[in-house]
Amino acid sequence: MIVRFERNGKQKHGWLVADENKVRVIEGDIYKQLSAKPIMTGLEVAANEVKMLTPCSPTKIVCIGVNYLDHALEMGKELPKEPLMFLKPSTTVIGPGDSIVYPKETKNLHYEGELGIVIKKLARRVKAADADDYILGFTCAIDVTARDLQNSDGQWTRAKGFDTFCPLGPVIAPKVNYSQLRIKTTVNGEVRQDSNTNQLIFKVPEIIEAVTAVMTLLPGDVILTGTPSGVGEIHPGDEIAVEIEGIGTLQCNVIAEA
Ligand code: MG
Repeated sequence: MIVRFERNGKQKHGWLVADENKVRVIEGDIYKQLSAKPIMTGLEVAANEVKMLTPCSPTKIVCIGVNYLDHALEMGKELPKEPLMFLKPSTTVIGPGDSIVYPKETKNLHYEGELGIVIKKLARRVKAADADDYILGFTCAIDVTARDLQNSDGQWTRAKGFDTFCPLGPVIAPKVNYSQLRIKTTVNGEVRQDSNTNQLIFKVPEIIEAVTAVMTLLPGDVILTGTPSGVGEIHPGDEIAVEIEGIGTLQCNVIAEA
């Protein structure tokens, strides 16, 4: 599992061996190294003695809307004929354990637990059949949404774009069977979403083909694949966790804006 962490004021990538509480330190540009052979330094640090950061630093987050049938039904939305895309700015990203800030402009803040695709290398007009070559791995994500602003604005930039609206992490899992992963969201320990990526309307390779037909994806960019049913409100003080089989659990809390 790939992680990014901070130790003694320095940020580095590493390979997490969770059951041994170890992070093996990787030096340099992880994307170049992984497209050839990763350079491990031989150094190890204790996983519980470092601050884990978001595992990648995307220049953009491309999101797919209405991509689970059960979520389309609960929202009363028609099924899209092709992947419905929108963007979250890079400044929405926060890491595991960080706080989602509840903005003053909304009265109806929602979580959306999602599978995130992390891009490995420059990707433009990638065919679905070749999509796996462009994937570094998968991570857990929350597409935080101001539902009232989404409905009132008519487009989604503000509803999806506030600072802290895109928690990512805690790891990038390079090898998972992404077409069949259980995905579960809890709020204060109560299960709110419990589905499987086998319910995705547009599958991961099709999504990569559709997105890269529009825009070039850069190493570390992230695609959020959509949320299953069970979305709902969160409030300051809530603890949210998104758990995806084979990846891990992303935990965040909600705080009021100062
Ligand atoms: Mg979403």
